[in-house]
Amino acid sequence: MSHGGRVAVTGNRLLRVAISAPLSRLFDYLPPDHGKAVPGCRVEVPFGRQKTIGLVMELTTHSEIPESKLRKATAVLDDSPLLNEDDLWLVGFTSDYYHHPIGEVVAAALPAMLRQGKPLVSLVRKIAATAAGVAVNLHGVAKRAPRQAALLELVRDADAISFAELDEAMPGWRRLKKNLLDKSLIEEFETSDDTDERDSFANVEQTGGPELNADQAKALAAIRSRSGFGVSLIDGVTGSGKTEIYLRLISEVIDAGRQVLVLVPEIGLTPQLVRRFRARLGFEPVLMHSALTDTERLAAWRAARRGSAKLILGTRSAVFTPLEKPGLIIVDEEHDSSLKQQEGLRYSARDLAVARGKRKDIPVVLGSATPSLESLQRCRDGAYAHLRLPTRAGKAVPPLLRLVDLTKHQSSDGLSVPVISAITDNIRRGEQSLVFLNRRGFAPTLICTACGRIADCDRCDARMTVHAAKHQLMCHHCGASRPIDHACPDCGSACKPLGQGTERLEDTLRNRFPADAIARIDSDSTRIKGTMKRALAAATTGETKILVGTQMLSKGHHFPNLTLVVVINADQGLFSTDFRGSERLAQSLIQVAGRSGREARQGEVIIQTAFPQHQFWSELMSGGYERVAETALEEREKAVWPPFSRLALLRAAAAKRQDVHDFLNAARKIAEDQAIPDVRILGPVSAPMERKAGRYRAQLLLQSRGRRGLHAMLQALRAALERSKSARRVRWSIDVDPIELF
Ligand code: ADP
Ligand code: ZN
Ligand code: ZN
Repeated sequence: MSHGGRVAVTGNRLLRVAISAPLSRLFDYLPPDHGKAVPGCRVEVPFGRQKTIGLVMELTTHSEIPESKLRKATAVLDDSPLLNEDDLWLVGFTSDYYHHPIGEVVAAALPAMLRQGKPLVSLVRKIAATAAGVAVNLHGVAKRAPRQAALLELVRDADAISFAELDEAMPGWRRLKKNLLDKSLIEEFETSDDTDERDSFANVEQTGGPELNADQAKALAAIRSRSGFGVSLIDGVTGSGKTEIYLRLISEVIDAGRQVLVLVPEIGLTPQLVRRFRARLGFEPVLMHSALTDTERLAAWRAARRGSAKLILGTRSAVFTPLEKPGLIIVDEEHDSSLKQQEGLRYSARDLAVARGKRKDIPVVLGSATPSLESLQRCRDGAYAHLRLPTRAGKAVPPLLRLVDLTKHQSSDGLSVPVISAITDNIRRGEQSLVFLNRRGFAPTLICTACGRIADCDRCDARMTVHAAKHQLMCHHCGASRPIDHACPDCGSACKPLGQGTERLEDTLRNRFPADAIARIDSDSTRIKGTMKRALAAATTGETKILVGTQMLSKGHHFPNLTLVVVINADQGLFSTDFRGSERLAQSLIQVAGRSGREARQGEVIIQTAFPQHQFWSELMSGGYERVAETALEEREKAVWPPFSRLALLRAAAAKRQDVHDFLNAARKIAEDQAIPDVRILGPVSAPMERKAGRYRAQLLLQSRGRRGLHAMLQALRAALERSKSARRVRWSIDVDPIELF
């Protein structure tokens, strides 16, 4: 038998199995002695000296490994495929497009319990009444054994009842069970757990929605007019009624017997949104997010796969949820960076949603008040339908935007005089204000008053953030912490916090305004379970007069009394080194501004800046996001940045700086040897924050006009790097369509 060539293995259908390992290939196995392994089923296979669980991706009759060396799968774990052909296609597509090992893509697509080899449907033990048990006179039993009669009555009423339900309904029932079993009045049996199926059909009272306005009706008609695949971008300001359109579309698709998948950013999945969907649609959406337990996640996954889940509402990883009969995919806040996974398998849930819609020939709807430049450009190209909702629905009018020049107005502890008076007026009117600062902690820097020494992180090229309430210095990049230095370690003089964080801002506000009406919402203040919920409830009723917070507050929430938004410091974003800087800044400002004046009263947004002459401000004030986006697209076209080119990053990190650069230089050589004229190779360059958590970081940037050249280069690069020795001394990853350049 020849090595290297493909060898036919007579009579056997070989399994090509995806195994969670950092290698871009499938592994061939002989079929197991028992059971039928078809694509989409899990198999137990020997791998190295262990056994592991893999997913059969395809069957083949040929292998490059001689038959005598092929190993045999030891068991099939599923009677029918977990993933159907389309779902397997998505796994393969994701692996190809992102140049990520297929076994790891499978691992991302399956719930943890399935990865561990647990059954898709678990068995539950139940009790039912026998024919004799149904016929027997309960009163007769009750005279001699009242507790046994009570148990029998419960079982009879329920047809069949699980042990868990009995534990809840009648503590101590287990002691009575034997008596009834002995008398053959009840029987015990095992059956598959169908609780998730029943839950998804639980009906809720349905409420009607408002009549659509002309813009909404036009957008809805445009989406409906496309049959089959088509991407529509609903570009509508906050409160313009995008969600209303989603609700109509969802109802129609569900009435037609199909399923809908709705993806939202991590912090967009609020209880408010879920309540609204439930109330309007009249049933419970099935939720998929990171806070689910393994059991809950499996139940949701199973309901989606079986088709009993009509609506799946989830965060980015829900894009992999198998769907029995998909009819529509919606991606809300499509510009949001949390739709892109930034570690491990670096995928964009938005882009995969579009790919999935195309494969299934179903519509995909993207929505945002601040669409990504990628999506806007697709609209210009004519690939996506651009549907605009320029005004707020209902009575609300857009907020007024105002700049406060920090070089002209006095400010103390970060609050300028005009801001203080605006908040004062707002409190007098009984209305709510939101003070936004995207930096948690007390102060971003601790500095020595005599020698100017700054407290740095020992493991990162970064400053420590002062957390006054905890008496700690903390690194927001690696999580390191240590007590605050009272005296400078170099000269012994006093140290003081420099700059503003939300914790300090809260202190400042408490000193000036009624302290009990102030609440801070950031990831520090809401770490304890339940605090976030309480804080949001108080903010919604209007009990809280001043909200202080980070990005956490800027999305999804609806505070009816909020009429003033203050942005403490936006200037960092003006001078970003990333080409996406202005897009990001405009998005975050528009998002937070959107919290203001969502009901009858007009809202106001005040932005403090030390650079009021900057071109960004005049564009934002005169033309809003659309204008900022236009300028940014022009700049990117000139510089050939995305969406006018394709990017991929090869990132590497290691404890030794030299290892990182040796690796990237070797990678550069491999890439150059491909001699693909279309692709530019930039670097290696160190990350701006070179050391993070004790590791040195650098990268190679690949830029290309088209996707094909880049794709070919990455494929060759990945294959070579998986074999290379220098790769073993570093951690490396490929990021296709990166949204952060470092
Ligand atoms: P978006 O998703 O664009 O932020 P929503 O769909 O949440 O907008 O709508 C904002 C508010 O306006 C909601 O309270 C919604 O009920 C209301 N609304 C939406 N469409 C209409 C309409 N056509 N007439 C009256 N009110 C509407
Ligand atoms: Zn000092
Ligand atoms: Zn650190």
